[in-house]
Amino acid sequence: MEIRILGCYGNQLPGYKTTGFVINKAIALDAGSLTSSLELDEQLMLDAVLLTHSHIDHIKDLGFLGDNIIGRKRNPVSLFGGKKTLHAIADHYFNNSLWPDFTQIPTKENPVYVYREIENKKEFDLFGLTVLPVQVPHPVFTFSYFIRDHKSTVLHVSDTGETEEVWALADQEPHLKAIFLETSFPNEMKGLAQASKHLTPEMMGEELKKLKKRKNLVDVYIYHLKPLYIDKLKEELAKVEVEGFRIRLMEQDSVIRYV
Ligand SMILES: [Zn+2]
Ligand SMILES: [Zn+2]
Repeated sequence: MEIRILGCYGNQLPGYKTTGFVINKAIALDAGSLTSSLELDEQLMLDAVLLTHSHIDHIKDLGFLGDNIIGRKRNPVSLFGGKKTLHAIADHYFNNSLWPDFTQIPTKENPVYVYREIENKKEFDLFGLTVLPVQVPHPVFTFSYFIRDHKSTVLHVSDTGETEEVWALADQEPHLKAIFLETSFPNEMKGLAQASKHLTPEMMGEELKKLKKRKNLVDVYIYHLKPLYIDKLKEELAKVEVEGFRIRLMEQDSVIRYV
């Protein structure tokens, strides 16, 4: 599995793009930085977008992507997400008011996008991978995703507050290689982190401790740092150590591979 990191921050400033990854060149995982990072030919290679939730830092580039690929792609791009996520996009974004309804143009029969609703804890196949969505706590409906090929599982936890179920399921993954985990606010802002269902460095460490001890060392890539607090967050994250995990910052414009 190859995962290209386009953007991995919790807000936008020059040099810091919001969440967007590309798996095996064809599957986007969230859409916060697709059109600001990918060349047009790379955008045209996307056949699916897995959406974690409807917050704008995770969906905003769907509009620009649609505009770039309309009339240039033979098949529609599938937008996978929970029912509430897809409804939020249909009602508030592709509603012919904020932006065109790309599920109806250029033709109803062969539009730019099709919505593909997925259900909590119902695994599905996606271009040679299997994907298991598991809901995590956040102010809007949010899915984490276990993404598996025959050899490796990568767990993208997405934006989350303190949680339990996803860790219980992670304990059952035999080939878990990596966890993408958020950390948004510095430790002193724990109150805001809890109110907005995000994590601080200390809270992130506590989440990892909920996992059982494993034989293999698991890579943990920290994402969704708010650029405004970047220095403080880096300093505090450097102090978090949890046995069994190799915790590091996710790097924008990097590629993560598990073979
Ligand atoms: Zn976010
Ligand atoms: Zn969010």
